[in-house]
Amino acid sequence: MSKIKVSELFYSIQGEGRYMGVPSVFLRTFGCNFRCRGFGRDRSTIPADEIMNPEVAHVLGLNQLNPYTSYGELPLVNSGCDTYAAIYPEFKHLSPLLTTDTLADSIVDLLPHQEWRDEHLVITGGEPLLGWQRSYPDLLENSKMAGLKEITFETNGTQMLTEEFHDYLFKDWTRFGRNYDQLTFSVSPKLSVSGEAWKDAICPEVVVDYQQMGYTYLKFVVATEEDAAEAEQAVSEYRAAGFNGPIYLMPVGGVESVYALNNRRVAELAMARGWRYSDRLQVPLFKNEWGT
Ligand code: SF4
Repeated sequence: MSKIKVSELFYSIQGEGRYMGVPSVFLRTFGCNFRCRGFGRDRSTIPADEIMNPEVAHVLGLNQLNPYTSYGELPLVNSGCDTYAAIYPEFKHLSPLLTTDTLADSIVDLLPHQEWRDEHLVITGGEPLLGWQRSYPDLLENSKMAGLKEITFETNGTQMLTEEFHDYLFKDWTRFGRNYDQLTFSVSPKLSVSGEAWKDAICPEVVVDYQQMGYTYLKFVVATEEDAAEAEQAVSEYRAAGFNGPIYLMPVGGVESVYALNNRRVAELAMARGWRYSDRLQVPLFKNEWGT
């Protein structure tokens, strides 16, 4: 039976993008092809060969041995990837490898009525379209998931759909009465503010591939006019490749002090370009704590 390494599984309100405000189960898979050490840091202070975000290294180094036994104990960080425990191997002991049957049971147990009504499933990460693609058909075909209609993959937009997953979506997605508009790819391409290289992060052909299967949009995390200008450059590359979906700008800020500094400015940057603004409701509502 297929398995998935699960970093977090929780019920909350979707705070971002198309489904902002919708009650949602979040399945956070373990592992990412990026590190995004640049978020929240001055660009000039990111050495190319740095292995770990210094703030996360500090979290670990203070204690010599990794003392954390659950996500609830982990400190929040102001820089780098805000879901750091889902990407660094030093934290993989916090992420159990679950069969898709166990996972389907756990997902449905989180629902307020233990059955699907208007809730939505978010498969996020880390990067959820790495190797776990091979397990999603088993999970989505589980009878406990039959009432689920709307699903979003939150991805960094660098991973092609595998042939097998592509075939599954093409042939079997509608089996439980789901339609293709209910399959969403929320793509967050990483601009230079993330610290990732353009050639690795901006992959228009991948996003055009998602667009063939479901509702697809781009969501850029920005703080400044310079970031927004870079997003425009990226959008022109996506458009040239055939992408025709909507564009969102979303403020940098995994913690409220950073988010509150730039949310209005980012809304204005989006308006000036005729693009959409995405909030990060999990920050003002829940302080972006783990499990929210
Ligand atoms: S792509 Fe997302 S999950 Fe991966 S390191 Fe960057 S912010 Fe974290």
